[in-house]
Amino acid sequence: MKTRRRPPSGEGLILALVVVALIGIGLAALFAVLRPAAHQVPLKPAGTNPAAHTGSAGSRSPSADPGRSSPAHGASKRPLAGKVVGIDPGHNGGNGADPAYINQLIWNGRASETCDTTGTSTDGGYTEARYNFDVAQFLRADLLKAGARVVMTRTSNTGVGPCVNRRAEILNNAHPNVAIDIHADGGPPWGRGFSVLEPVADGPNDKVIGSSARFGNDVLVAMTRHTPMPVSNYYGHDGIQPRDDLAGLNLAIEPKVLIECGNMRNATDARLLTSPAFQKHVAAALTDAIISFLARR
Ligand code: ZN
Repeated sequence: MKTRRRPPSGEGLILALVVVALIGIGLAALFAVLRPAAHQVPLKPAGTNPAAHTGSAGSRSPSADPGRSSPAHGASKRPLAGKVVGIDPGHNGGNGADPAYINQLIWNGRASETCDTTGTSTDGGYTEARYNFDVAQFLRADLLKAGARVVMTRTSNTGVGPCVNRRAEILNNAHPNVAIDIHADGGPPWGRGFSVLEPVADGPNDKVIGSSARFGNDVLVAMTRHTPMPVSNYYGHDGIQPRDDLAGLNLAIEPKVLIECGNMRNATDARLLTSPAFQKHVAAALTDAIISFLARR
């Protein structure tokens, strides 16, 4: 008792000042540590906030809740939910085995052309049909993950056909929001790069000319961003080429382009085109283009 009541000596005063200073430093440090944590709270997505779920649980059925209680979260993870995307992997692995079928004449919306061709291949024998199908498989997986429904014109690389007009019909019948034809070119050996082929108005496709051009630009931008493949130096103008002689573009009633992903006859392009890693980058580019395109519609 007596000790506590004694007035502070000089020594005691210094000690008290040091203690006060230490407490002050401690509080400042504690505040610095707590500040970032306090800032993190409002940054949490709405969907991860338990309170948001509690508030809505009573008024919604469990099956409706995940999609509706956190629209922002759902939109970022499944940006293609409710969308339909068409994929036409050009040619087919068995086309070469049935020339009578492949050479039959079909109407492409403007003129007669053959049902299909075998497509090209690299000097090493990796076929375009296989490339188109491999990329389509990667693209399909990406699109499904993004929430889309995907319609394909063929489901293997061992069959024959279908003819190009039938492919357009398959996609049209599915009423896709957007569609893409996947190919790789057989250009001059010195030529490099990818090109985007776009429809020219011919009647059936009149309503999708402008939208296809916008989608084509999205594809061009995304390919440049996601892949090391340059824009073509031998075909098209800055990577874009209108075409009025392809059933896939002439008969389309949805926004659609055809991409020649590179030149299989060029050694540098062929090294890329035959690489699964590159094929996945192409799929990512096309997915990105489809998401960008549909986000504006
Ligand atoms: Zn082709």
